[in-house]
Amino acid sequence: MELNFEKILNGDIRTAARLMRELDDGMPRAFETIKSLYRHTGRAYIIGFTGSPGVGKSTLVDQAISYLRAQNKTVGVIAVDPTSPFSGGALLGDRIRMQRHGTDEGVFIRSLATRGQFGGLSRSTSAVVKVMDAMGKDVIILETVGVGQDEVDIADAAHTSVVMMAPSMGDDIQAIKAGILEIANILVVNKADREGAERTAAELRMMIEMGRNSRPPGAWEVPILLTEANRNVGMDRLMEAIENHRQFLLKNNAAALHRFEQTRTRKELQNIVKGMLMEKIQWAFEGDKVFTDMVEQIIQKKLDPYTAAEKIIQQMD
Ligand code: GDP
Repeated sequence: MELNFEKILNGDIRTAARLMRELDDGMPRAFETIKSLYRHTGRAYIIGFTGSPGVGKSTLVDQAISYLRAQNKTVGVIAVDPTSPFSGGALLGDRIRMQRHGTDEGVFIRSLATRGQFGGLSRSTSAVVKVMDAMGKDVIILETVGVGQDEVDIADAAHTSVVMMAPSMGDDIQAIKAGILEIANILVVNKADREGAERTAAELRMMIEMGRNSRPPGAWEVPILLTEANRNVGMDRLMEAIENHRQFLLKNNAAALHRFEQTRTRKELQNIVKGMLMEKIQWAFEGDKVFTDMVEQIIQKKLDPYTAAEKIIQQMD
């Protein structure tokens, strides 16, 4: 039975959930439905929260949901977990900490596994964003463990990127080196009740100061905020900072917003093309006989891997 996309536009949770499952399974008809939904997207505001495991993302996102709900905003949450090579599924399932919102019709929470094919956010992530957007969610939260490419991808996918750290996690400075400052619109030092929070914030402030000269005039000033997510401390200021960034993009910065859309769309299109190409040559990676034979021939030096790769690509259609 075809999925009724009108139902999704009316916010029907069951139909949307089914579509998301089908997207996850890579069912072709699911992508047909997304095609119909596409022109109804573009209204949601997308916020990314990224940081190492244990930094307090789920706890903080849970508080953010409450804050947004108090403002009568509807919220979609996509928690992206790195796929475990053993379980193959979403690591934490639907996040337990957010379950108190489970009965709220205005909140839709989904866990997704990054399939790890290309690293970073999976193709189904951007499709699920589209579904939630088409459902009419005002805000969509993307929560992801910052593992390398994810951080960069989330910055491309979200209007506002919040990068979270915690004191004495040992990774603060390395994270900064990894270019995290370039992707963060807002920096959060969570677990401010722990020793070293002020020092971490001061280090971040110094890094930001050092980069000041290379920023164009009128650029967004990245705020550094201290939070205690588990006690709901500092959340108001964080949510205000997110709103300020949104206003910065919407009101003063049409050019910046357009650049963001260009980057996001470019990435999205690239990922879709890669995904489609991968599907076409999936046989080669699933131990197909032709592929296995090729491997043997390469080992025996009867074939070189470059010619073999060309042959695989030639057989795509
Ligand atoms: P995630 O892996 O980044 O999603 O982190 P979680 O939200 O699961 O939090 C990890 C642990 O840190 C949990 O036990 C939380 O209760 C705790 N936690 C979250 N925020 C704070 C905080 O501000 N202070 C302290 N001391 N613990 C916190």
